[in-house]
Amino acid sequence: MELLSIVVPCYNEEQAVELFYPELVKVLDTMDVDREIIFVNDGSTDRTLEKILALRDAHPGEVRCIDFSRNFGKESAMLAGLRMAKGDYVTVMDSDLQDPPANLPVMLKMIRENGDDVVGTRRVTRAGEPKIRSWFARQFYRLINHFTEVEIVDGARDFRVMKRYVVDSVLSLEEYNRFSKGMFAWVGYQVEYLEYENVERVAGETKWSFFKLVRYALDGFIEYTEAPMQIIGRTGGVMSFLMLIEMIVLLVRALSGHTFSGTVLILSCVLFMGSILMLALGIMAEYLLKTYAEVRKRPHYIVKNYYE
Ligand code: UDP
Ligand code: MG
Repeated sequence: MELLSIVVPCYNEEQAVELFYPELVKVLDTMDVDREIIFVNDGSTDRTLEKILALRDAHPGEVRCIDFSRNFGKESAMLAGLRMAKGDYVTVMDSDLQDPPANLPVMLKMIRENGDDVVGTRRVTRAGEPKIRSWFARQFYRLINHFTEVEIVDGARDFRVMKRYVVDSVLSLEEYNRFSKGMFAWVGYQVEYLEYENVERVAGETKWSFFKLVRYALDGFIEYTEAPMQIIGRTGGVMSFLMLIEMIVLLVRALSGHTFSGTVLILSCVLFMGSILMLALGIMAEYLLKTYAEVRKRPHYIVKNYYE
């Protein structure tokens, strides 16, 4: 029988984990695959680990767990889980039931029968999410897809069933800054999407503040586009051209005997140029920081314990 690995990153999900597991197993029981469920405890400060280990004791051989030494973020938790997964098919699921287990049989059927390499899921609505957050998310996808060579699909979740060789490809990317939406798109393969309506989390609360999301979007931009540098370069070019014309105009006026008060004008020009330079420096710093992180070759996470 084929093996399906389910990777579940958990950060402070003591309530959700208990609700998630029975729902998942109920669906898995109806499917003709063997399963392993890999919980990654991403440095939770509540009783998440205890809850996971209790599940593992109750269902020996089915539940495995990786326990991080602190919170390293969902990307790192997914990476650890994907590395541990042995399945012919591997999927990642949130522990808050926002990735409906009921989709699993459909996805497996699609991947088996349609010759796809990956079957992903896509939220077609963002009901229950703050409006402003949805708006920013949509603008993010529009912008990033304008600049990248690979398409980053709006609403695509990390909840995707992948064949073994796709997982191996994702794992072969060794970059430190892992923006998985980008990596999944970058490795290519034939992907089909199952669309569904957004579901709200069962318990606990979202780990993503608005600013964490902005940070995440920025990471995507810096890693998958060269646009920020180019835009700054072009703006700088256009600005200096305009300034040159401005100076010539002022010079001609002065030479032909007109008087003019240039103080305010000069001050605003100086401030404007200064701010552009600062922005450019900030963007360069982003690239430098990323390069630094790559060069350091630090591990993505530290595992405290494996519970096989
Ligand atoms: N998560 C994690 N580490 C983190 C943040 C989140 O492992 O630092 C997990 C979290 O427990 C959940 C999944 O990632 O299973 C998605 O997080 P969340 O539901 O908070 O995100 P949202 O659905 O609001 O985008
Ligand atoms: Mg969620």
